[in-house]
Amino acid sequence: MRLRDRIALITGAGSGIGASTAALFAAEGATVIVNDMSRPAADATAAALPRSEAGHWAVAADVSSSTEVQAMLDDVRERHGRLDVLVNNAGISEGAPGETARVNANATAVLANVMGGGPRDVHWDITPHITDDSWSRMLAVHLSGTFFCCRAAIPLMQAAGGGAIVNLSSAGALLGQPGVPHYAAAKAGILGLTRSLAGELGSRGIRVNALCPGTIDTPMTKDIDEAVRIMIAATAPISRLADPGEVAAAALFLACDESSFFTGQTLEPNGGIHM
Ligand code: NAD
Repeated sequence: MRLRDRIALITGAGSGIGASTAALFAAEGATVIVNDMSRPAADATAAALPRSEAGHWAVAADVSSSTEVQAMLDDVRERHGRLDVLVNNAGISEGAPGETARVNANATAVLANVMGGGPRDVHWDITPHITDDSWSRMLAVHLSGTFFCCRAAIPLMQAAGGGAIVNLSSAGALLGQPGVPHYAAAKAGILGLTRSLAGELGSRGIRVNALCPGTIDTPMTKDIDEAVRIMIAATAPISRLADPGEVAAAALFLACDESSFFTGQTLEPNGGIHM
Protein backbone atom coordinates (compact mmCIF):
# COMPACT_ATOMS: atom_id res chain seq x y z
CA MET A 1 0.00 0.00 0.00
CA ARG A 2 2.04 2.91 -1.28
CA LEU A 3 -0.44 5.65 -0.34
CA ARG A 4 -1.79 4.28 2.94
CA ASP A 5 -3.67 7.01 4.88
CA ARG A 6 -2.74 9.72 2.38
CA ILE A 7 -5.33 12.30 1.40
CA ALA A 8 -5.23 12.81 -2.39
CA LEU A 9 -7.12 15.33 -4.51
CA ILE A 10 -7.38 14.50 -8.21
CA THR A 11 -8.90 17.09 -10.55
CA GLY A 12 -10.85 16.05 -13.63
CA ALA A 13 -11.20 12.58 -12.15
CA GLY A 14 -14.63 11.94 -13.62
CA SER A 15 -13.11 10.40 -16.76
CA GLY A 16 -10.08 8.89 -18.44
CA ILE A 17 -6.67 9.27 -16.80
CA GLY A 18 -8.10 10.98 -13.71
CA ALA A 19 -10.66 8.23 -13.06
CA SER A 20 -8.01 5.56 -13.58
CA THR A 21 -5.64 7.40 -11.20
CA ALA A 22 -8.39 7.67 -8.58
CA ALA A 23 -8.98 3.90 -8.76
CA LEU A 24 -5.26 3.12 -8.47
CA PHE A 25 -4.66 5.57 -5.60
CA ALA A 26 -7.65 4.16 -3.68
CA ALA A 27 -6.35 0.61 -4.22
CA GLU A 28 -3.02 1.82 -2.78
CA GLY A 29 -4.69 3.02 0.43
CA ALA A 30 -5.37 6.70 -0.28
CA THR A 31 -8.51 8.57 0.59
CA VAL A 32 -9.41 10.18 -2.72
CA ILE A 33 -11.16 13.48 -3.25
CA VAL A 34 -12.63 13.21 -6.74
CA ASN A 35 -12.96 16.57 -8.45
CA ASP A 36 -14.63 17.18 -11.77
CA MET A 37 -16.54 20.00 -13.40
CA SER A 38 -19.27 17.44 -14.03
CA ARG A 39 -20.98 16.48 -10.76
CA PRO A 40 -22.41 13.17 -12.13
CA ALA A 41 -18.98 12.15 -13.47
CA ALA A 42 -17.26 12.94 -10.15
CA ASP A 43 -19.95 11.06 -8.22
CA ALA A 44 -19.67 8.02 -10.50
CA THR A 45 -15.88 7.78 -10.04
CA ALA A 46 -16.13 8.19 -6.26
CA ALA A 47 -18.92 5.60 -5.99
CA ALA A 48 -16.80 3.01 -7.80
CA LEU A 49 -13.83 3.30 -5.42
CA PRO A 50 -13.14 0.69 -2.73
CA ARG A 51 -13.99 1.86 0.81
CA SER A 52 -11.50 3.98 2.73
CA GLU A 53 -11.42 4.74 6.46
CA ALA A 54 -11.73 8.53 6.02
CA GLY A 55 -14.18 8.14 3.10
CA HIS A 56 -13.66 9.13 -0.52
CA TRP A 57 -15.77 12.06 -1.65
CA ALA A 58 -16.66 13.92 -4.81
CA VAL A 59 -16.58 17.65 -5.40
CA ALA A 60 -17.85 19.54 -8.43
CA ALA A 61 -15.68 22.57 -9.17
CA ASP A 62 -14.31 24.27 -12.27
CA VAL A 63 -10.54 24.49 -11.80
CA SER A 64 -10.41 27.61 -13.98
CA SER A 65 -12.31 29.51 -11.26
CA SER A 66 -10.04 30.59 -8.41
CA THR A 67 -13.13 31.05 -6.21
CA GLU A 68 -14.39 27.51 -6.81
CA VAL A 69 -10.90 26.09 -6.31
CA GLN A 70 -10.45 27.95 -3.02
CA ALA A 71 -13.87 26.74 -1.80
CA MET A 72 -12.90 23.16 -2.71
CA LEU A 73 -9.63 23.38 -0.77
CA ASP A 74 -11.44 25.02 2.16
CA ASP A 75 -13.68 21.92 2.21
CA VAL A 76 -10.59 19.70 2.22
CA ARG A 77 -9.18 21.65 5.19
CA GLU A 78 -12.46 21.36 7.07
CA ARG A 79 -12.78 17.60 6.52
CA HIS A 80 -9.15 16.48 6.80
CA GLY A 81 -7.04 19.40 8.05
CA ARG A 82 -4.38 18.59 5.47
CA LEU A 83 -3.63 17.38 1.93
CA ASP A 84 -0.85 14.95 1.00
CA VAL A 85 -1.21 14.57 -2.78
CA LEU A 86 -2.57 16.79 -5.54
CA VAL A 87 -2.90 15.60 -9.14
CA ASN A 88 -3.68 18.45 -11.52
CA ASN A 89 -5.32 16.43 -14.26
CA ALA A 90 -8.42 18.35 -15.39
CA GLY A 91 -8.18 19.19 -19.06
CA ILE A 92 -9.92 19.92 -22.33
CA SER A 93 -8.89 19.27 -25.92
CA GLU A 94 -10.72 22.18 -27.56
CA GLY A 95 -11.10 25.76 -26.43
CA ALA A 96 -14.32 26.25 -28.37
CA PRO A 97 -16.97 23.88 -29.77
CA GLY A 98 -16.17 22.64 -33.27
CA GLU A 99 -12.40 22.98 -33.01
CA THR A 100 -11.77 19.25 -32.85
CA ALA A 101 -13.82 18.64 -35.98
CA ARG A 102 -11.84 21.32 -37.82
CA VAL A 103 -8.51 19.89 -36.67
CA ASN A 104 -9.61 16.36 -37.62
CA ALA A 105 -10.59 17.38 -41.14
CA ASN A 106 -7.39 19.35 -41.55
CA ALA A 107 -5.13 16.65 -40.10
CA THR A 108 -6.65 14.01 -42.37
CA ALA A 109 -6.10 16.20 -45.44
CA VAL A 110 -2.52 17.04 -44.41
CA LEU A 111 -1.77 13.36 -43.79
CA ALA A 112 -3.16 12.35 -47.21
CA ASN A 113 -1.09 15.09 -48.84
CA VAL A 114 2.13 14.03 -47.10
CA MET A 115 1.55 10.30 -47.72
CA GLY A 116 0.65 10.97 -51.36
CA GLY A 117 4.25 11.91 -52.04
CA GLY A 118 3.38 14.79 -54.41
CA PRO A 119 3.96 18.49 -53.80
CA ARG A 120 3.03 19.73 -50.33
CA ASP A 121 -0.01 21.84 -51.12
CA VAL A 122 -2.30 21.18 -48.16
CA HIS A 123 -1.52 23.22 -45.06
CA TRP A 124 -2.31 23.42 -41.36
CA ASP A 125 -4.77 26.31 -41.50
CA ILE A 126 -5.63 26.30 -37.83
CA THR A 127 -4.16 29.20 -35.87
CA PRO A 128 -5.88 31.96 -37.88
CA HIS A 129 -9.21 30.44 -36.75
CA ILE A 130 -8.45 30.26 -33.01
CA THR A 131 -10.58 32.88 -31.27
CA ASP A 132 -9.59 34.97 -28.25
CA ASP A 133 -12.14 33.05 -26.17
CA SER A 134 -10.76 29.68 -27.24
CA TRP A 135 -7.18 30.70 -26.46
CA SER A 136 -8.22 32.10 -23.06
CA ARG A 137 -10.33 29.04 -22.13
CA MET A 138 -7.49 26.64 -22.99
CA LEU A 139 -5.01 28.54 -20.84
CA ALA A 140 -7.57 29.06 -18.08
CA VAL A 141 -8.38 25.37 -17.62
CA HIS A 142 -4.86 23.96 -17.96
CA LEU A 143 -2.43 26.62 -16.80
CA SER A 144 -4.51 28.85 -14.49
CA GLY A 145 -6.34 25.78 -13.16
CA THR A 146 -3.06 24.13 -12.22
CA PHE A 147 -1.82 27.35 -10.61
CA PHE A 148 -5.06 27.92 -8.65
CA CYS A 149 -5.05 24.35 -7.31
CA CYS A 150 -1.34 24.46 -6.36
CA ARG A 151 -1.69 27.84 -4.66
CA ALA A 152 -4.65 26.71 -2.56
CA ALA A 153 -3.13 23.29 -1.80
CA ILE A 154 0.31 24.45 -0.62
CA PRO A 155 -0.82 25.58 2.88
CA LEU A 156 -2.60 22.23 3.36
CA MET A 157 0.53 20.36 2.37
CA GLN A 158 2.56 22.50 4.76
CA ALA A 159 0.05 21.44 7.43
CA ALA A 160 0.78 17.81 6.48
CA GLY A 161 4.55 18.40 6.80
CA GLY A 162 5.09 17.79 3.08
CA GLY A 163 3.39 16.45 0.02
CA ALA A 164 3.51 15.59 -3.66
CA ILE A 165 2.05 17.49 -6.59
CA VAL A 166 1.73 15.79 -9.98
CA ASN A 167 0.88 18.02 -12.94
CA LEU A 168 -0.49 16.63 -16.19
CA SER A 169 1.37 18.23 -19.07
CA SER A 170 1.68 16.52 -22.46
CA ALA A 171 4.14 15.32 -25.08
CA GLY A 172 2.76 18.29 -27.04
CA ALA A 173 4.56 20.61 -24.61
CA LEU A 174 7.89 19.13 -25.72
CA LEU A 175 7.25 18.43 -29.40
CA GLY A 176 4.76 21.14 -30.27
CA GLN A 177 1.35 20.07 -31.51
CA PRO A 178 0.14 21.43 -34.85
CA GLY A 179 -3.63 21.81 -34.73
CA VAL A 180 -3.82 22.65 -31.03
CA PRO A 181 -1.11 25.30 -30.42
CA HIS A 182 -3.07 26.74 -27.48
CA TYR A 183 -3.15 23.29 -25.84
CA ALA A 184 0.59 22.76 -26.35
CA ALA A 185 1.37 26.28 -25.09
CA ALA A 186 -0.70 25.76 -21.94
CA LYS A 187 0.97 22.39 -21.32
CA ALA A 188 4.43 23.94 -21.81
CA GLY A 189 3.48 26.61 -19.28
CA ILE A 190 2.67 23.86 -16.81
CA LEU A 191 6.27 22.61 -17.10
CA GLY A 192 7.62 26.08 -16.22
CA LEU A 193 5.24 26.26 -13.26
CA THR A 194 6.24 22.76 -12.14
CA ARG A 195 9.95 23.56 -12.10
CA SER A 196 9.44 26.91 -10.36
CA LEU A 197 7.27 25.40 -7.63
CA ALA A 198 9.71 22.54 -7.19
CA GLY A 199 12.39 25.13 -6.48
CA GLU A 200 10.20 27.03 -4.05
CA LEU A 201 8.79 24.08 -2.15
CA GLY A 202 11.61 21.56 -1.83
CA SER A 203 12.66 22.93 1.54
CA ARG A 204 9.10 22.33 2.79
CA GLY A 205 9.17 18.66 1.78
CA ILE A 206 6.70 19.28 -1.06
CA ARG A 207 7.76 17.66 -4.34
CA VAL A 208 6.36 18.92 -7.66
CA ASN A 209 6.69 16.86 -10.83
CA ALA A 210 5.03 16.62 -14.22
CA LEU A 211 3.86 13.94 -16.64
CA CYS A 212 4.09 14.35 -20.40
CA PRO A 213 1.98 11.51 -21.82
CA GLY A 214 1.75 10.65 -25.51
CA THR A 215 -1.66 9.80 -26.93
CA ILE A 216 -3.85 7.92 -24.46
CA ASP A 217 -7.06 6.08 -25.27
CA THR A 218 -9.60 8.17 -23.32
CA PRO A 219 -12.78 10.10 -24.10
CA MET A 220 -10.50 13.08 -24.90
CA THR A 221 -9.03 11.29 -27.91
CA LYS A 222 -12.06 9.26 -29.04
CA ASP A 223 -12.88 11.66 -31.89
CA ILE A 224 -9.44 11.51 -33.52
CA ASP A 225 -9.93 10.42 -37.11
CA GLU A 226 -9.05 6.74 -37.70
CA ALA A 227 -6.30 7.47 -40.27
CA VAL A 228 -4.67 9.96 -37.89
CA ARG A 229 -4.98 7.49 -35.02
CA ILE A 230 -3.16 4.85 -37.09
CA MET A 231 -0.45 7.39 -37.96
CA ILE A 232 -0.02 8.34 -34.29
CA ALA A 233 0.37 4.69 -33.32
CA ALA A 234 2.71 3.96 -36.23
CA THR A 235 5.12 6.79 -35.36
CA ALA A 236 5.66 5.52 -31.80
CA PRO A 237 8.30 2.81 -31.21
CA ILE A 238 5.66 1.14 -29.01
CA SER A 239 3.15 1.19 -31.83
CA ARG A 240 -0.14 1.87 -30.09
CA LEU A 241 -2.03 4.35 -27.99
CA ALA A 242 -1.72 3.85 -24.22
CA ASP A 243 -4.29 2.74 -21.69
CA PRO A 244 -5.05 5.42 -19.05
CA GLY A 245 -3.80 2.97 -16.41
CA GLU A 246 -0.30 3.30 -17.86
CA VAL A 247 -0.33 7.02 -17.02
CA ALA A 248 -1.95 6.40 -13.63
CA ALA A 249 0.98 4.11 -12.77
CA ALA A 250 3.43 6.95 -13.46
CA ALA A 251 1.28 9.34 -11.39
CA LEU A 252 1.36 6.84 -8.53
CA PHE A 253 5.15 6.68 -8.66
CA LEU A 254 5.44 10.48 -8.48
CA ALA A 255 2.83 10.68 -5.70
CA CYS A 256 4.34 8.06 -3.40
CA ASP A 257 7.58 7.86 -1.41
CA GLU A 258 9.29 5.71 -4.05
CA SER A 259 10.02 8.98 -5.90
CA SER A 260 11.29 10.73 -2.75
CA PHE A 261 14.32 12.24 -4.57
CA PHE A 262 12.37 13.39 -7.64
CA THR A 263 11.29 17.00 -7.89
CA GLY A 264 10.95 19.39 -10.83
CA GLN A 265 11.11 16.35 -13.11
CA THR A 266 9.12 15.28 -16.14
CA LEU A 267 8.22 11.64 -16.75
CA GLU A 268 7.14 10.78 -20.26
CA PRO A 269 4.80 7.79 -20.66
CA ASN A 270 4.75 8.28 -24.44
CA GLY A 271 5.64 5.00 -26.15
CA GLY A 272 8.91 6.55 -27.35
CA ILE A 273 7.60 9.43 -29.48
CA HIS A 274 10.00 11.76 -27.63
CA MET A 275 13.27 10.52 -26.10
P1 NAD B 1 -10.88 13.22 -20.36
O1 NAD B 1 -11.58 14.13 -21.29
O2 NAD B 1 -11.18 11.76 -20.43
O3 NAD B 1 -11.06 13.70 -18.86
C1 NAD B 1 -10.88 15.04 -18.48
C2 NAD B 1 -11.81 15.35 -17.32
O4 NAD B 1 -11.55 16.70 -16.91
C3 NAD B 1 -13.30 15.28 -17.70
O5 NAD B 1 -14.00 14.47 -16.78
C4 NAD B 1 -13.76 16.74 -17.64
O6 NAD B 1 -15.11 16.89 -17.21
C5 NAD B 1 -12.79 17.32 -16.61
N1 NAD B 1 -12.65 18.76 -16.75
C6 NAD B 1 -12.53 19.49 -17.87
N2 NAD B 1 -12.44 20.79 -17.59
C7 NAD B 1 -12.51 20.90 -16.24
C8 NAD B 1 -12.47 21.99 -15.36
N3 NAD B 1 -12.35 23.24 -15.81
N4 NAD B 1 -12.54 21.74 -14.02
C9 NAD B 1 -12.67 20.48 -13.55
N5 NAD B 1 -12.73 19.41 -14.36
C10 NAD B 1 -12.65 19.61 -15.70
O7 NAD B 1 -9.32 13.50 -20.63
P2 NAD B 1 -8.01 12.60 -20.33
O8 NAD B 1 -7.55 12.08 -21.63
O9 NAD B 1 -8.25 11.67 -19.21
O10 NAD B 1 -6.99 13.76 -19.92
C11 NAD B 1 -6.59 14.01 -18.58
C12 NAD B 1 -5.42 14.95 -18.58
O11 NAD B 1 -4.33 14.36 -19.28
C13 NAD B 1 -5.70 16.28 -19.29
O12 NAD B 1 -5.04 17.32 -18.61
C14 NAD B 1 -5.08 16.07 -20.65
O13 NAD B 1 -4.75 17.29 -21.26
C15 NAD B 1 -3.87 15.24 -20.29
N6 NAD B 1 -3.35 14.46 -21.40
C16 NAD B 1 -4.15 13.61 -22.10
C17 NAD B 1 -3.63 12.91 -23.17
C18 NAD B 1 -4.47 11.96 -23.99
O14 NAD B 1 -4.00 11.53 -25.06
N7 NAD B 1 -5.67 11.57 -23.55
C19 NAD B 1 -2.27 13.07 -23.52
C20 NAD B 1 -1.48 13.95 -22.79
C21 NAD B 1 -2.03 14.64 -21.72
